[in-house]
Amino acid sequence: MVTQVEFAERRRRFLESMGQGVALIASTPVAIRNNDVEHDFRQDSDLFYLTGFDEPASVLLLTTEHAEQRMVLFVRPRDPERETWDGPRAGVDGAVQRFGADAAFPVAELQKRLPEYLQDVKRLHYRLGHDRAFDSVVLDAIDNVRARARAGITPPREIVDPGVIVHEMRLRKSEAEVETMLRAAAITRDAHLRAMQVALPTRYEYEVEAELLRVFRAHGAERPAYGSIVGSGVNATVLHHRRNDRQMQAGELLLIDAGAEYGYYAADVTRTFPIGGRFSAEQRAAYQVVLDAQLAAIDAVRPGATLPGIHAVALRVLVRGLIALGVIEGPEDAAIEKETYKPYYMHRTSHWLGMDVHDVGDYHVGKNPRPIEPGFVLTIEPGLYFAPSTPCDPKWHGIGIRIEDDVLVTASGSRVLTDGIPKTIDEIERVLAARQAA
Ligand code: CA
Repeated sequence: MVTQVEFAERRRRFLESMGQGVALIASTPVAIRNNDVEHDFRQDSDLFYLTGFDEPASVLLLTTEHAEQRMVLFVRPRDPERETWDGPRAGVDGAVQRFGADAAFPVAELQKRLPEYLQDVKRLHYRLGHDRAFDSVVLDAIDNVRARARAGITPPREIVDPGVIVHEMRLRKSEAEVETMLRAAAITRDAHLRAMQVALPTRYEYEVEAELLRVFRAHGAERPAYGSIVGSGVNATVLHHRRNDRQMQAGELLLIDAGAEYGYYAADVTRTFPIGGRFSAEQRAAYQVVLDAQLAAIDAVRPGATLPGIHAVALRVLVRGLIALGVIEGPEDAAIEKETYKPYYMHRTSHWLGMDVHDVGDYHVGKNPRPIEPGFVLTIEPGLYFAPSTPCDPKWHGIGIRIEDDVLVTASGSRVLTDGIPKTIDEIERVLAARQAA
């Protein structure tokens, strides 16, 4: 787990990259679901990344322009009555003692105190448009400073996105972050293994989803890293299937895309397997193509590779497979150029992974795809989807397959963080056969 020592080191590096100025990062606003009921709170990833502070109604201010203070936290003050309802708060003292703030104030004092931190500061690092209510607070503070221009005080002249710095940092995972991601991966592995046990014919997709969530929580994961997709039969061909309410039948495939969030880090894993325990001839043939594409793409992960380059490797294997299966016509290069594969593979092969499931960090350097570096984590997730509307032989219809793992770029190549979850046809059928014997 990431320690306070590491959080402090991150702030030091952030301030060093920032140069002179002030940075402001606010907590996620609390969303009200209905009446008194709040949506589960999850701290803003950037704020958490720099502090480990997970309370709502908080604001982090980092400054190089103050004589004694580098880090200031605005927090909810201690309040025994409120804490009876909402749980303990670190309070102003806790912000200093436990989270390393040089100064801390009740968040109610933010409006009053913010102008003083912004006086004669040339550059403010603040992400405009992310939280409109907080934008007003910041802009009011700048106005407030501007009103004192005649006293020789100047307001910030530039507002720039702190994400430029902090998202670059988040792209490169530390040892502690990799360890945490391995924990999220291990919990996710257990959940997928359990899902394979319970996904029996005539059960409902939501029963499988419930098991995934149970295993996540049973191992201490805070929450799923994203809405779990449990798609059986034709639902497996719907990329963002979320209703998870269909009754599953023998003879169909089940596609499960689900990952745990642990310690604020995500896993993102997809497995596809036959609900009845055995792949049909068509399912088996299509599955092997996707698996070959995934293994080839993983093999292509190494420092200096690019996501479009990795995608091209996966795509070539998929296209070759589609031609061999008689789904599309060759030759390979023409099929790739004319995109005749598109009805069956319409998404990219990779995205960054970290604190957010579609993690931050630029995908390009200027106009060029970014070469990957040791410490980056990405998904490798090729698929083939034969929706009933596609123009192929109907024997393929209703087959949807995706195989997704999380891959860390290392100095010598890569490491699959989410290994140990069956994905070869033999492994899958063996695990499912044992299930039926039990
Ligand atoms: Ca996924």
